[in-house]
Amino acid sequence: MKDVGHTKKAVSLLSAEELKKINDDLRNPIDYRKSGLSLNHIVGCPLDCSYCVRHIFDSYDMRTPKAIMSDDEAVAALLSHKFFQRNITPLQLFNRATDPFLPNVKPHTFHVLNLLDQQRITNHVLLITRYHVNTEDCHFLNSLNFLRVTVLVTYSGIDDAKIEPVNSNIAVKSLMTLYQNAVKYKVIMYWRPIIPGVNDSDRHIERAIDVAKYCHAVATTGLFFRQQMVEHFDKEGIEKPYNEIARRKILPQVQEKLVLSRLIEARLLDSQVAPIFRKTSCAVSYAHRNPDYNGHYGIREICDICPESQVAICANSWTIPSISKVSATASKVGINQIPTISERSVSFHGVPEQERYYVQHTLEFQCHDSLKPHHAHLHGRADIGWDVAHEVPI
Ligand code: SF4
Repeated sequence: MKDVGHTKKAVSLLSAEELKKINDDLRNPIDYRKSGLSLNHIVGCPLDCSYCVRHIFDSYDMRTPKAIMSDDEAVAALLSHKFFQRNITPLQLFNRATDPFLPNVKPHTFHVLNLLDQQRITNHVLLITRYHVNTEDCHFLNSLNFLRVTVLVTYSGIDDAKIEPVNSNIAVKSLMTLYQNAVKYKVIMYWRPIIPGVNDSDRHIERAIDVAKYCHAVATTGLFFRQQMVEHFDKEGIEKPYNEIARRKILPQVQEKLVLSRLIEARLLDSQVAPIFRKTSCAVSYAHRNPDYNGHYGIREICDICPESQVAICANSWTIPSISKVSATASKVGINQIPTISERSVSFHGVPEQERYYVQHTLEFQCHDSLKPHHAHLHGRADIGWDVAHEVPI
């Protein structure tokens, strides 16, 4: 297997002094998210997207990527992590505090991928980037034998450099290069964040439809807007798109309907336009022709835009788990409650999300917390911009 890039210039380790100063959450390089168990032992990014999740970890000013441990230590920690399961747990790499294709982060990205692939595991691995991906990178990704790799290229089409200093043309070029060279890995156009009044005009949507011809699938979502982002927008004089903050991402009903319908119409006219999905894991799973690893199939209204062939794949593998199966799985991560099980989801009461994701990914069935109810049709989005009075909590 080629070890492209590992000998190229890599990042330096944080000193003990620097390590003490960083946010507690950042010091722990592994956390479990809905899209997968996420490895983040490199922190720091110079790309300065105004809405970056790094605000939440007090690391927005860390512009030089640095490592909190070596790749070998990080991979060992991942493989022995209590939530990791061979061939099951979806993985994500460098999606929290840096970009995996920054020039000095890329050698680590590829080294970690090599180390994981040497384990002969078939887990999904998601790489999210908005940076340059070249042909040599594609050849490396094609050389991996076992991992199911997906590169998600963030494309927003936002023109305002105050909101997003990185020109979206970089993402377009990366998508084209990735798509043209894809043999084993898959590529997703990650059309986000959709922000009302910023990138939802006809012109923006037409451009996005053109870009959607260079990927296996499109996933879309809205803006993550927490108090830290509000403060940054105020400091930089950026007009705030919302008057409220939210725990979940914000994608108002009007904008969701608009981008979905326009892309679906465009695909009917031109089959080169890739299908669009409401959920990241659905786009990834479709690209690999696997059932959705988050088990969204039970939330039937999510699937109304999904290609028939993919609906059949999910339908074939989807089963409502028995209470004994759920309990046996949940008890492995310390959940000892009797859940409620419906066609849509398994529901616990007051169980942390990381444990729930373990159950969800093991059973490929949605696992919710009754303290944080979802609303039908909101698909896990914040309720800002939705008429939740008429939606049933589930
Ligand atoms: S059938 Fe439903 S759950 Fe499966 S990939 Fe399509 S949208 Fe997702």
